[in-house]
Amino acid sequence: MADVEYLRSLLRPFPDWPKKGIVFLDIFPLLRDPVGFETLITHFVHRLTSHTIAKSPTKKIDVVVGLDARGFLLGPIIAMRLGAAFVPVRKKGKLPGEVVHAEFEKEYGLDVFEMQADAIQPGQNVVIIDDLVATGGSAKAAGELVAKLGGKTLEYLFIIELTFLKAHEKLDAPMYSIVKID
Ligand code: IMP
Repeated sequence: MADVEYLRSLLRPFPDWPKKGIVFLDIFPLLRDPVGFETLITHFVHRLTSHTIAKSPTKKIDVVVGLDARGFLLGPIIAMRLGAAFVPVRKKGKLPGEVVHAEFEKEYGLDVFEMQADAIQPGQNVVIIDDLVATGGSAKAAGELVAKLGGKTLEYLFIIELTFLKAHEKLDAPMYSIVKID
């Protein structure tokens, strides 16, 4: 619990950014603090190795999927600690080769996420990670990409959850967050 409060204290709110009425939570002060960053990664790794979903031999985590762009700062380190693959979900047009697509709702219209078509093998166990979940639209699209390739999402993980937006209602697997904003 002390760890969670320490991590929470390292998040920096920016009122009225990127536009009036939005309080943007900046995670970069947490990454600048070596103890904070280590605590964060260890917290996620502990979750994924001690939680019952990961304990069953049939539920070994094969792939960590990170969302464009701040999921790329967390996913590879966690994947390496777990001995799993890291797979990026990117905004449309950034990945070479054959890709699968999923649309999601942004503030102004639709956006598209892509994943390389050979990135996940059918039957592989996957976890999906990003810095913050708000409506859950982007996480849901990432889950759709995993499902299109035949992967099984075991859990969605975030540093921060805006609980009042009820993202878990949209997702096809359990959701875990460290810092909850009510
Ligand atoms: P959602 O799709 O509505 O759940 O929005 C989540 C996406 O918006 C994630 O990719 C976040 O990185 C980004 N996001 C929204 N608000 C914030 C914030 O306050 N801080 C950092 N990222 C945010």
